[in-house]
Amino acid sequence: MATIFDKIIAREIPADIVHEDEHVLAFRDINPQAPVHVLFIPKKPVATLNELAPGDEVLAGRLVMAAAAWAKKEGFAENGYRVVFNTNRDGGQSVYHIHLHLLAGRAMHWPPG
Ligand code: 5GP
Repeated sequence: MATIFDKIIAREIPADIVHEDEHVLAFRDINPQAPVHVLFIPKKPVATLNELAPGDEVLAGRLVMAAAAWAKKEGFAENGYRVVFNTNRDGGQSVYHIHLHLLAGRAMHWPPG
């Protein structure tokens, strides 16, 4: 099922895009939970981590590596940052197109709420 993120990929709705390559798009979250809050999504629609299938290893790796490279480029690597994949209801997922949250710019708390 199409989500709001498909519309961002198709440029049907605007987003503050910070990274794009052949497979991955990254844009600032509309409701940031930290001074820096960016979502990394695959252009291929996969609803949740549960739907990752054999063959998606590269897709999952691309998301993580794109986020790490961007954090490094932006100067967040040394102080640190957090990445999160919310999954299904109890994980707090609201958009059913896999996305990696990258949060940075402040100290994070543990455990998360
Ligand atoms: P989830 O709750 O599924 O882990 O995260 C979905 C995220 O997408 C939320 O943090 C929410 O603020 C963000 N979001 C939802 N709709 C839009 C939108 O139209 N544009 C952007 N940039 N972010 C969105």
